[in-house]
Amino acid sequence: MTDTALPSIGFIGLGIMGRPMVRNLLAAGYRVTVLDVVPASVDELAAGGATAGASPRQVASDTDVLITMLPDSPEVQQVYLGPDGAFEALRPGWLAIDMSSIAPAVARDLAARAAAAGADAIDAPVSGGDKGAIAGTLSIMVGGSEAAFQRARPILEVMGKTIVHVGPAGAGQVVKVCNQVVVGVVIEAVAEALVLGAKAGVDPARIADVLQGGLAATKVLEMRRDKFLSGDFEPGFRIRLHLKDLKNAGELARETGVALPAAAIVEQLMRAAAASGRGEYDHSGLITVLEDLAGSRVADAAGS
Ligand code: NAD
Repeated sequence: MTDTALPSIGFIGLGIMGRPMVRNLLAAGYRVTVLDVVPASVDELAAGGATAGASPRQVASDTDVLITMLPDSPEVQQVYLGPDGAFEALRPGWLAIDMSSIAPAVARDLAARAAAAGADAIDAPVSGGDKGAIAGTLSIMVGGSEAAFQRARPILEVMGKTIVHVGPAGAGQVVKVCNQVVVGVVIEAVAEALVLGAKAGVDPARIADVLQGGLAATKVLEMRRDKFLSGDFEPGFRIRLHLKDLKNAGELARETGVALPAAAIVEQLMRAAAASGRGEYDHSGLITVLEDLAGSRVADAAGS
């Protein structure tokens, strides 16, 4: 049942993350108008109670709050600033929540344009993956004014469990970039260890058991164990999207004068994965690049 006392929501970007996030908003009683360049995703959610939108401008003008969950900065700029874009419907009191992971500088630009028209645009990227999106337990890091954060909070609480206001516009994207540096470097470390141990003749499942009981324990191995050991890299979180996050990390590092040596190596390895046709693999599929270098497959050695 929809609740007309709740603000109406526009939602653009119905991928692995966006679709379950919309389902949770519908289940909480929100009226949601949806849009994606893939018509099948719109149809699927329309069959579940959402309204199909026509363009970003129309979705923005017909709803109180716009949420976007798009791949990267160019798509976000296209949806907000392009022809028939959402900002053609900018008006005082309107709120945009971009939950995509994009460059912090783009988030700051959108917030400034919205503020100039008396509206609010906040950045609210997430972590927790498709499992967190389905369960409504995402971690959400918010950049923007306190007043806009308080307005967005009840809506964010439908999609996430840990919701932290981390600073002004762009700060959410800064924290997301930091998160992706850690996850990328840890994936690479786990992959190196499993490839080494397996080629040295030890069952990688036993290696994983032992790593998870000591100081080397990591959420990455806990969440992606089956993928590392089976060689099935159905996403999850795509390598091409993680590569984009490391590109955004590199840009932020250049802007701020910070060296990211380990992240730079992981970016090169992810680029090799994408260049050789593995961009749609889950990011744990980075292990296949290390396997190629070693001439050995972990899945061939895995006992369980
Ligand atoms: P996805 O590629 O599955 O979905 C993106 C969607 O945006 C697609 O449905 C695509 O058709 C749509 N789209 C692209 N351009 C568009 C446009 N101009 N207009 C309308 N729709 C458009 O990606 P995802 O995994 O859902 O990730 C979305 C964002 O969330 C990314 O920034 C990603 O880095 C971030 N993220 C993803 C995960 C994850 O585990 N998948 C976790 C945390 C954060």
